[in-house]
Amino acid sequence: MENYDAIVVGSGISGGWAAKELCQNGLKTLVLERGPNVEHIKDYKTAMMNPWDFPHRIITQEETQKQFFVNDKEHPYIQDKPFKWARGYQVGGRSLTWGRQSYRMSDLDFEANAKDGHGVDWPIRYKDIAPWYDYVETYIGVSGQPEGLPHLPDGKYLPPFELNCVEQDFSKQLKKHYNDRILTIARVANLSRGWDGRGPCQARNLCERGCPFGGYFSSNAATLPAAAITGNLTLIPNAIVTEIIYDDAKSKVTGVRVMDAETKKVTEYYSKIIFINASTIGTASILLKSVSKRFPNGLGNSSGQVGRNLMDHFNFSGATGEHEGLKDKYYSGRRPAGVYIPRFRNLNGQTQRKDYVRGFGYQGAGERLGWKDVNCADEEFGVSLKQKLSNPGPWQMTLGTYGETLPYEKNGIYLDKNKVDNWSQPIIHISMEFGENENAMRNDGIESALEMMDKAGMKNIKKVDFRNPPGSAVHEMGTVRMGRDPKTSVLNEHNQMHEAKNVFITDGSCMTSASCQNPSLTYMALTARACNYAVSELKKMNL
Ligand SMILES: Cc1cc2nc3c(=O)[nH]c(=O)nc-3n(C[C@H](O)[C@H](O)[C@H](O)COP(=O)(O)OP(=O)(O)OC[C@H]3O[C@@H](n4cnc5c(N)ncnc54)[C@H](O)[C@@H]3O)c2cc1C
Repeated sequence: MENYDAIVVGSGISGGWAAKELCQNGLKTLVLERGPNVEHIKDYKTAMMNPWDFPHRIITQEETQKQFFVNDKEHPYIQDKPFKWARGYQVGGRSLTWGRQSYRMSDLDFEANAKDGHGVDWPIRYKDIAPWYDYVETYIGVSGQPEGLPHLPDGKYLPPFELNCVEQDFSKQLKKHYNDRILTIARVANLSRGWDGRGPCQARNLCERGCPFGGYFSSNAATLPAAAITGNLTLIPNAIVTEIIYDDAKSKVTGVRVMDAETKKVTEYYSKIIFINASTIGTASILLKSVSKRFPNGLGNSSGQVGRNLMDHFNFSGATGEHEGLKDKYYSGRRPAGVYIPRFRNLNGQTQRKDYVRGFGYQGAGERLGWKDVNCADEEFGVSLKQKLSNPGPWQMTLGTYGETLPYEKNGIYLDKNKVDNWSQPIIHISMEFGENENAMRNDGIESALEMMDKAGMKNIKKVDFRNPPGSAVHEMGTVRMGRDPKTSVLNEHNQMHEAKNVFITDGSCMTSASCQNPSLTYMALTARACNYAVSELKKMNL
């Protein structure tokens, strides 16, 4: 029997933060991670490889990063409706492969459910999380440009990367034709200068292979080493948490049951508090599997809300357009991300839409057409490639929506009663579809992008409409939502389970609504905030 002060389930973006905060506060902390270890630098096997070092010369980017993504055949799930579930089962989770776009939510988002009646009210407002956004940004290092927008609050930024010439021109045109929208450089957790012993970002644009320079934020480069250096961290890879143990006699959660991914040996670990950070769908499935006399439908699930209200963003609907000029201009160097057009719909009376609630932002970039990224294999070589490189095509702008989805109770996950995986765990069903609100917003996203391209004087304008299934934005949220009322939510304002006070959940499952901003920065801020609360409650002997 092994006892710890705290157990953290999962070592991805949010689990890494929980590990750091709890260890730095003096708690002996056990991190259980279902995937293998990935040691910073040493295990980034493809990071320094050239295109010709890969067997297929990087025909698809997948060739360079597949080691950090789950093989669906080994870890099956059932799509009741089309859904893409991109997972990273390893130490660091998807912090190794994320796109690093980091935006704050605002009161427009925290008040949305209460105002338009979808889902339940968030139990917090912007003022509750703002200091924790400061705290997290100051640690992870986010490069970006303050813009003074109330609905996309500015953070603590490192110097921004630069807009290229077509983006600068597009930004000017937007200002000229609209008074409700701007274009800004993407806010990304890439270090535009050295920071806290990491980086700077070398702008190699190979982030998803793992960065030997620590040029972007990941658990492996930042939070897990910070936790380890305290001497309070025990990290066990290949440890699948199958269940949270609720002791009916003690009326309390006491620990977790774990299966070794390789030997299948089952062990129990005990602790005073537990943070579950197995990612949105993983966390809900662990709760549903954790049945006891007190909780026959899953731990903390008297509300019946565990597994419901699954959300994602819909993405890649928008437009492309070509610029006729700027032919004498070219790139100087690379950049780790593109541009962002913040939400401009349903902000106030003037911007109100009748056909849908909430809103969307655009991510995109300007690029000079005519040749593929030099890191990709190209059919051309020799003289013809040289000629192609010295005669590039026109500049092009691309804009794609990232739109908010509503928390529909019917969208969610549940466990199959008969089918099990290789570890005898019930297979997860995922059932999610976008609704009329998302479809109306998507149409507006396309039309608005076409209109902006036209007003900006772009030519050869084309609609982009990929209609990707839910899950494609890899922003799964909901399933264990925060709320004010234990009858309709699972977690309170401290991410603490209403019904099991020593359990905290701070991954995407806790989200009460999705907003349209990329969500991971919010998970990190909520995690740091919840850890601070848990430590103070522990000191007061309340847990
Ligand atoms: C290509 C890509 C681009 C993205 N771009 C962005 C972006 O630009 N901005 C943004 O905000 N987000 C982005 N995301 C999403 C972001 O990666 C996730 O929101 C974030 O990683 C979620 O953090 P998490 O801690 O909830 O889960 P994860 O980082 O997925 O970590 C969960 C961990 O839990 C482990 N685990 C699961 N089940 C168990 C179990 N039973 N027992 C033990 N361990 C378990 C997993 O192995 C994993 O290590 C992107 C994701 C991808 C893949």
